[in-house]
Amino acid sequence: MMAPPIPPRSLRLLPEEVAARNFWEMAREAVAGDVSRLSLRDFWESFNDACAALPSPGNPAVRGILACRVVEAADNDTLRALSGDARIGILAELDAALHGWKLKERPVVRLLTTAPFSPEYAAWLTPRVSKAADLLAKGVDLAFQRRNWSCMKGEDKLAFARRTAELYAQAFGINPPPTVEPFAEGPSPDGRILSGQYDARRNVIRLNTAAASSWSDSDSLFYAAIHECQHAVQYHLMDGRLDAPELHERTLLRWNDRFYVTWKDSTLGNAAEYQAQIMERDANFVADTIVKTTIYCEMMRSGVKPGNTPLSAQRRKTCPHR
Ligand SMILES: [Zn+2]
Repeated sequence: MMAPPIPPRSLRLLPEEVAARNFWEMAREAVAGDVSRLSLRDFWESFNDACAALPSPGNPAVRGILACRVVEAADNDTLRALSGDARIGILAELDAALHGWKLKERPVVRLLTTAPFSPEYAAWLTPRVSKAADLLAKGVDLAFQRRNWSCMKGEDKLAFARRTAELYAQAFGINPPPTVEPFAEGPSPDGRILSGQYDARRNVIRLNTAAASSWSDSDSLFYAAIHECQHAVQYHLMDGRLDAPELHERTLLRWNDRFYVTWKDSTLGNAAEYQAQIMERDANFVADTIVKTTIYCEMMRSGVKPGNTPLSAQRRKTCPHR
């Protein structure tokens, strides 16, 4: 009998790559192909079995490398569907690989950009966002700001942003509320400009007053202030300073803080990852919801018929002033 041809070296899989494929096979088998049902126990069993085929399976570095390969072996749809428990399980194994920040970076970012928000997080967030929208609709006069913005002084614009931050913090029980500081920084060479930043260490929201930034109109500044306030909520949540149940999002936010994709990374892929990482997705979702709700309430008060606006009927139901 003739021996099968040996594939060229470049086509052969490394032992960790083989183990990663075995992991997915065992994991899928445990839940009949539906990885959204993968429990932590299913995950550990499949992961330990896959790891057992490797030399030094008890070595955290070996387990860490296998965790990297497990993520690399999955397409984005699989990672999107993955259960929260399995996602946290893989992250914990990646953490066990003590060295190789660079090695872990890609898999971690992929796990963060594909993570859906859990129903538990939505149940915690939604009433607080509604409360914030309610407080803001009553407490800041967006129509007045819009009419007078071009002739308003910088300190009055700042006062508007501060009021927004105070009311938002109140809805989430953040005490003291973040302070608001202005800074001025022009656009980067490719034309993008930073609207704001949250400094978690000082609990400070920094807003850009440069001409091309969101400072130029009141609705954009309102959006930017809420977006940064939600970053404040995230840090308070991950540090256990808010009244919240144990949520997967806490762990994911901590990872995102460590492996944050900055807006300045200018490649197309990085720009997409910047928007998709869980911290930014969450802050944009909340700011979008609140801006639409408060503008809707404002229109209702001024007698504009919702049918004449692009806002959906769904939005009408969420308006606290209907
Ligand atoms: Zn942000």
